[in-house]
Amino acid sequence: MVTEKGTISINTENIFPIIKKFLYSDNEIFLRELVSNAVDATQKLKKLSSLGQFDGELGDLKIKVSVDKENKTITISDKGLGMTADEIKKYINQIAFSGAKEFLEKYKDESDKTQIIGQFGLGFYSAYMVAKEVEIITKSYQDAPAARWICDGSTAFEISESDRTERGTDIILHIAEDSEEFLEESKLEQILEKYGKFLPVEIEFNEKVINNPNPVWVKPPSELTDEDYLAFYKELYPYGEDPLFWIHLNVDYPFNLTGVLYFPKIKKDFQLNREKIQLYSRQVFITDDVKDVVPEFLQLLHGVIDSPDIPLNVSRSYLQADGNVKRINSHITKKVADKLHELFNNDRKAFEDKWESIGLFVKYGVISDEKFYDRAKDFILLKNVDDQYFTIEEYKTKLEANQKDKDGNLVGLYASDKAKQDAYISGAKKREFDVIIFDDVLDSHFINTIESKIEKFSFKRVDADTFEKLIDKGLKSESVLSEDEKKKVEETFKELVGTNIVQIEALPTDELPVSIVMPEFMRRWQDMSKVNGQAGMFGSMPVTYNLVVNGNHPLIGKIANEENEEVRKSLSKQLHDLALLSQGMLSGNDLTRFIERTVGTL
Ligand code: ADP
Ligand code: MG
Repeated sequence: MVTEKGTISINTENIFPIIKKFLYSDNEIFLRELVSNAVDATQKLKKLSSLGQFDGELGDLKIKVSVDKENKTITISDKGLGMTADEIKKYINQIAFSGAKEFLEKYKDESDKTQIIGQFGLGFYSAYMVAKEVEIITKSYQDAPAARWICDGSTAFEISESDRTERGTDIILHIAEDSEEFLEESKLEQILEKYGKFLPVEIEFNEKVINNPNPVWVKPPSELTDEDYLAFYKELYPYGEDPLFWIHLNVDYPFNLTGVLYFPKIKKDFQLNREKIQLYSRQVFITDDVKDVVPEFLQLLHGVIDSPDIPLNVSRSYLQADGNVKRINSHITKKVADKLHELFNNDRKAFEDKWESIGLFVKYGVISDEKFYDRAKDFILLKNVDDQYFTIEEYKTKLEANQKDKDGNLVGLYASDKAKQDAYISGAKKREFDVIIFDDVLDSHFINTIESKIEKFSFKRVDADTFEKLIDKGLKSESVLSEDEKKKVEETFKELVGTNIVQIEALPTDELPVSIVMPEFMRRWQDMSKVNGQAGMFGSMPVTYNLVVNGNHPLIGKIANEENEEVRKSLSKQLHDLALLSQGMLSGNDLTRFIERTVGTL
């Protein structure tokens, strides 16, 4: 057999259904595409007019969307530049030959690029996702007869002259049986509002304009007042609480990015809501799933970002990670950090007042983004139990004077629950130690991050076992117990604690007779497992603790001198249970018995 070479031919008959079915994930976007085309046609006409290439009246350029339930049509009408019959053949009949692209090439003027939406040359065909037949009736701004094109979604079309006299284009969709839901006005209005709320040309539906063509993000910041930003926030989130502050993004090099990001009040038990930032491309709504464009911690922000440079796939419904996205990412991160820095420098008091919200956000950023830590390190605040705030540098200076272990390392103390750890906090205060409050969900991760960034610096919870040993400044006094008495006390308590350790200390008489401390690492494991919401590996770790017995407390003296073994045992048992109780470690049967015993003594 003779070798034969050839080219595989693609039968266009087959390609249509593929476009219709698979190109777009969501059939409602037909409206976005057709309205975008109408906007493009209008913007192009304005452009030509400004260049002096069109000297007719622009007139009212409103785009109208209407439904005819009886004839089962949806019509999108614009008064843009229109098309001649030749242009229809060129731009419509040749799929994927985008007129928008050609127009841009012809009028290569960077500043205007952002005004044209189309770029793939396929949007028009999304009409066939809902229409069994599409009609175009159009008259060009140029002196040429109006044209009518009609096509039923096969590759056969018909083109003829029309008697239309008005400049502009009507796209008439003859809705298919399986898509009649789109003939519902409420449905159509909802889709229009979703995608077209901020389109740059007025869109009229049911005799009312559905969009705001000049949203704040397209205006220069110098022209805007706080009220404008707040009003826009309400427009985006009618039920939202007022935001704390905002950042107006405005970049045109090396990529184009505009937008306004709002800083919401974040609740302590915040639910991560990642669908608050809306992504637009040239004022066309694309998605509210911005996870590929905005770093995770920044998704706590609200607002809008608009960039024609975010690479969208043909359906524009999902994004592709590329260099621009990364650059946009780090730009936003930088902007946010700069804004926070500015607030901190300009009005520290106000910054501190907002720290409850800002702090959660900053901590999240610091934990999840190395670069953000570098930008944020000067305004990360630590709050102590007396509501005083310190930057990390300030706090290091404070510890330098008073809280160092014997190796010279700085030791910060923290409380995770001011009320529950009250006894330990006041114990620390007696020693003139400072106690930071770390009581939100991110804090255990945050502490680890801070420790990993700063040399010779660590945190211990205020009830950690190393408390006395690590910090070279205690209030220990002479023990009032003799060595024999100490032994007796130790043995009594040892029977109660099992494998845990009994530690007899000579503390001031007004401190607790018995308290429980825990190794810091164990505490963190417990905290971490709570954050991760799993009892699994960490939760099943046996809890070990030290029982610190204050040998100088009168009650301990009483135990030491008690001859009756029964009395000694029940007294120490009661004290041990009290210590467990104050740590939330007494439960079940032990707790019930403790209550019964206590009631019995009343
Ligand atoms: P794109 O918008 O990406 O260029 P489309 O398939 O949406 O691709 O549209 C193809 C071309 O058809 C457009 O570029 C434009 O030249 C022309 N066109 C579509 N709709 C209109 C309209 N309403 N008025 C004028 N020209 C239009
Ligand atoms: Mg288009």
